[in-house]
This record gives sequence, structure tokens and C-alpha cells, in this order.
Amino acid sequence: MHILHHGGATGVTGSCHQLVTDSDASLLIDCGLFQGDEQTQNLSVDFPIESLNALILTHVHLDHVGRLPWLLAAGYDGPIYCSKPSAALLPLVLEDAFRLTFSRDAKRLSAYLDRVSRQLRPLDYKVWYPLYQTTQHQVRVRLQRAGHILGSAYVEIDVCHQHTRASRRVVFSGDLGARYTPLLPAPKSPYRADWLVLESTYGDRQHTGRSQRKARLREAIQRALRNQGTVLIPAFSMGRTQELLYELEEILHTYADKPVHDGLDWSQLPVILDSPLASKITECYRTLQPWWNEEAHQRLRQGRRPLAFEQLLKVESHDAHLRMLHHLASSARPAVVIAGSGMCQSGRIVNYLKRMLPDPRHAVLFVGYQASGTPGRHIQQYGPQGGYVDLDDARVDIRAQIDTLSGYSAHADQQGLVQFVKGMRHKPHTLHLVHGEVSARQALAGALRDQIPALNVTKIVT
Ligand SMILES: [Zn+2]
Repeated sequence: MHILHHGGATGVTGSCHQLVTDSDASLLIDCGLFQGDEQTQNLSVDFPIESLNALILTHVHLDHVGRLPWLLAAGYDGPIYCSKPSAALLPLVLEDAFRLTFSRDAKRLSAYLDRVSRQLRPLDYKVWYPLYQTTQHQVRVRLQRAGHILGSAYVEIDVCHQHTRASRRVVFSGDLGARYTPLLPAPKSPYRADWLVLESTYGDRQHTGRSQRKARLREAIQRALRNQGTVLIPAFSMGRTQELLYELEEILHTYADKPVHDGLDWSQLPVILDSPLASKITECYRTLQPWWNEEAHQRLRQGRRPLAFEQLLKVESHDAHLRMLHHLASSARPAVVIAGSGMCQSGRIVNYLKRMLPDPRHAVLFVGYQASGTPGRHIQQYGPQGGYVDLDDARVDIRAQIDTLSGYSAHADQQGLVQFVKGMRHKPHTLHLVHGEVSARQALAGALRDQIPALNVTKIVT
């Protein structure tokens, strides 16, 4: 048995790992798109797929599912397993990605989505399902909640020998969420793993102040609105947008009649969601309430609508977007605008940035990871010193305020990752650290060795 990495091993995007259980049988965990600096990598599926018996998707972020069109084009026609909420969210994400990266042809798109839905096998959490058998092995899978976005899972694979009945368990963490993630329960450690493939995005960092995050979001918005302009929040359509809406609803509910600044109450502050995709995903999130956490259910019981509150305005058509952009840029009426993409590479946020970055009345508030090489990283890095950023091949000077809320992350920090391993009853003897820059992987390896003396790892692959 061995593991091959076809992406997401040495970088944070393009996740794709193959567990080879037999000479002629294997399964794939995720099939993600390369983004940022890693975008230049070849997207075509350049590994043999004849032995593939199953594809398992940990969650529906593009860097975990975006290479699906290439996998299907290469001829993969086996089952695609994922959690039930992921199965509901997947078509929305795939439709968008297919248009952006593969083809805009409507017929090809609908044929593609039909094919995915025929191959899709939605699974319940916490239940074992048989995957395949060979002359040597029986292989089964179980999904557990990963607390990263709705539907996210870590994957337990049991490979059981047909004759000796000896079994080995391989756990793929996917992306693990941090504690206090809005709407989602925190992930629990697996009971057992012999091999563990663990993400390490923030393997070299601790998230500070996550529990005061709401207060910091409120303060950041107040700071940003000092000059009465617009606060732009670049946000990923999937996950981050819904978390933000959830937290904004709480702030608006708690501080309704309190001032944001002179002459403006929180109850008068419009929250504008300018992203058709994020709007569709938010609607889908609302239909997936059975998977929301207890706190979110409490709010529902109080008659509140965490993802559909009154001050939330959705901008749908492109014309409406242009009108909104013009209105806010010229009137500088205070507003919070959430628009994608999260790293400012494309989408409606780019139009806002081109108009608003040169104007000191406005502000940009980053709440998500900005991969190296993306315009978002450049704005975050050079903006505070009055630098510039290239958008659509034009240089845009940055005079708007730039702020970063670091307590926000959809990923577990070093402590969370160590805890994930520490909490396991039977700890792994082989550990693959993936999905992190090299410094993060090394730091996490050190922290695991230091903090879990009982961890008798024969091999840490960083
Ligand atoms: Zn993710």
C-alpha cells in the first residue's frame, strides 16, 4: 500500500491524493484546482486512472474539486463519494468552475453536470460504506465532520486483508476547521489511524483572539467607516461568505440602535452581497439547516434569520452590479460590500477595487487567506505603505485603508492540528504532512514531535 500525491502535497492548492491499495486498485481523495502561483501547473490528469475504483471528495472548495472536468475527460466513470451536504452544494460550485476554466458551452456544461450527478454517491457521516474488494482486500470508507465548511469531511479508509482479516486504517484530514467556526461544530479527533495524511496550512501559526472575533470584526468595520466610505470584504463564495453573514447578523442584532459612528446606527448600515454565486450558495446553506451547529439552531428558534436578515441586500444581475458600484463609489455612502473572489483574482470585487482603491474614503478588509502571487496578497502587503497593485493589466494606486482580521480562518491552527492527533486513541505510525508551505510543514512536524512524546512515528513525510 502506498500514497501518491498529484497535487496539494507541497503547496496549498490542487489537492489530489491517491491511495494505492493493490497493484490494480486504488482510490482518489479530492481532485482540486491549482490556484495563485501554482496556477501554472498542468491541469490535465497525467497519472493512469485505470486502477481507480473510487473518488472521494472531502469538501467542495475548488482547490479540492476543481479538476473534476479533467478527470472525467480522462475517462473516469466510477463513483464520486461525498457527504450529503457536499452533494447538495457541489453542482453550484462545479457549474461556476466549469464556465471559468473549461468551457462556456451550455450543452457541454449540462452534459457534464448530468454525468457528475449520475456518478455521485452522497454518504451519511459516521457510517461505514463498502468501497470495493480485490482478491487481497476489502476497502471501506467513513466520513466524519471536519468543521471547515458545510459538508466538509475527513475521510477514514479501512483496508482489510481478505484472509488474515488484519486491517489498516488511513485517515485523510482534508481541510480541518478551527474551533468557533460559525454554523459548524468543531471537528473531533479520529479514534484511530495507522497512516495519517494531515493538512498543515497554518502548521506554523496560532490563531489569536478567535473567541473575540466578533468584537474585532465590529471594531474593524467601525474603523473602516471612519471616512464614511464603503468597506469591501473580498470573500470566498463558499463558506467564508456565509460565516461573515452569520457574524454580521449577530452584530446587527446586538447593536441595532447603537451608533457605528456619528449619525449612523448599525440598523441603518446596508450589507451588500454582490455575488450571484455566493447568493446561490447562501440559499443552499439555508436548506442544509440539519447540519448547522447548536448555536445556529438557537438563533433559528428565536425567530432570527442568520443568513437572510433584513439589512442584507443581494445584487444579482451585472447591470445591477454596475449601478451599485457607481452609486457607492460616487456617493461614498457607508456600506459593507461582500464580493468575490476571495483573493481578488477575478469576479466583481475587481471592479470595486479598481474604482475604490485610489480613494482614501474607502477600506478593504481581508478576512481570508491570500495565497502568494494573488492581487489580494499584493494589496495586503503593499497597500498599508501606499503601494500599488496590478488589476486587469493596469496599475492601481492604493490609498484606501487596508486592514486584515487575522482571527478569521477556516483552517485549524498549529494547536488545533496537534490536538487532532493528540486526541486519537491509536496514533499513526506514518504521517504525511500536506497542504502547506514548506515552513508550515516543518514547524508542524516539530510541534507534533515536541508535544506528543507518545507519538511513535516511524516516518514523517513533509
Ligand atoms: Zn477548503
